[in-house]
Amino acid sequence: MKVYISVDMEGITGISHPAPTARGDEGYGRGVELMVGEANAAVEGALEGRATEVVVNDSHGKMFNLPPTEVHPSARLVQGQKPLSMVEAARDARFGVALFVGYHARAGHRRGTIAHTYSGKPTLTTINGRPVGEYGINALYLGALGVPVGLVAGDDALAEEVADWLPDAERVVVKRAVGGNAADSIHPTRARQLVRDGSRQAVVRARAGDLAPLRLEPPIRVGLEFRAAVEADFAAIVPGFEREGDRGVVYVAGDAIEAYRAFVSAVRIAGIVD
Ligand SMILES: [Zn+2]
Repeated sequence: MKVYISVDMEGITGISHPAPTARGDEGYGRGVELMVGEANAAVEGALEGRATEVVVNDSHGKMFNLPPTEVHPSARLVQGQKPLSMVEAARDARFGVALFVGYHARAGHRRGTIAHTYSGKPTLTTINGRPVGEYGINALYLGALGVPVGLVAGDDALAEEVADWLPDAERVVVKRAVGGNAADSIHPTRARQLVRDGSRQAVVRARAGDLAPLRLEPPIRVGLEFRAAVEADFAAIVPGFEREGDRGVVYVAGDAIEAYRAFVSAVRIAGIVD
């Protein structure tokens, strides 16, 4: 079974504040070390679960955080400025399961550590009216490819959201969200054990046919609210989007791939506003 691992940074244990997740911050290097540790733990667990191939997609910031020589030698590494961002290369092979490591709660969550959705611009994203975060948007895209999400690792606020959106996924809690810029973390060694165990379990369950991909009946309604009205104005120039409310846009997609592409397009266009 081929295993796809998307690794973000804000949900890694020991990361409590946005500062060390930014390239250029003096704590960034230590943040990357923590990210590598959980990424490799997921690879090891996947291999223990008899993965035949493992692809790691570096899914944070500029998306070339993981030092290639430090990533597990059995994994391939997808990095750089990728059009499909956190799900790039997922359609290049028939993956049996996807694992999300270092993930975090959705933008607008009242407590989640470094809660956001793809950028700092959206304050709320909804799918068919339900608030959703990166875990759900990415799972929707992967679901359209027939790939279930087997594991999501991050804080306890994320775990609550995932229980609702992705009930089949193993939920690994590596820290307790204290608030937007604070967390109560377990030790990295312990977190890596939990990620490794969850990853192995996810791959075993995927091989047994125990996990269902996230699939929604079309039409799929994508809603976004932004910090400022001007950001919604910019997002609304993407064909198919309509302005809604003071700071929002909506898009009605015919399938999940289109919904994902619409979402990413709107966030990127809104990101031009400074
Ligand atoms: Zn993220």
